[in-house]
Amino acid sequence: MAAKRVLLRFSNSLISKPIVHRLVKDYDLGFNILKAQILPDEEKEMVLEIEGNRACYDKGIAFLKESGAEVINIEKRIVKDEERCYHCSACTVVCPSGAISIDRETMVVGYDPEQCIVCELCVGTCPPRAMQVEIG
Ligand code: SF4
Ligand code: SF4
Repeated sequence: MAAKRVLLRFSNSLISKPIVHRLVKDYDLGFNILKAQILPDEEKEMVLEIEGNRACYDKGIAFLKESGAEVINIEKRIVKDEERCYHCSACTVVCPSGAISIDRETMVVGYDPEQCIVCELCVGTCPPRAMQVEIG
């Protein structure tokens, strides 16, 4: 199975439990943490890339959900239509991951898909619909 990316959201009650490491120990999966936001008093978020065979993956994901984590498949991607973008910077305000940034000298708005956690906040914010969801 090709590596899959998921966004994991969980509350404070799970922070002391090694649920992610159990993917390796109990479900024979490998993972990379691509992004983590672990702030006190806030919902925690982690983007994982998970590798392994399909049956192990399904069991591992079921375990994460049973443990109380929200698991969101992010096979979806966000793409930016450069021809539509007029660099108004509205999307920079809502992007929580740092995927969208503005060059203060040129005022050009850039997008780094590697940092995107596919929250889709920019999609509804962009007046000319330059930020779009792509599936597959
Ligand atoms: S979907 Fe848009 S707002 Fe959300 S992380 Fe990706 S670029 Fe930023
Ligand atoms: S909100 Fe849309 S038009 Fe404005 S900078 Fe972002 S992508 Fe470009």
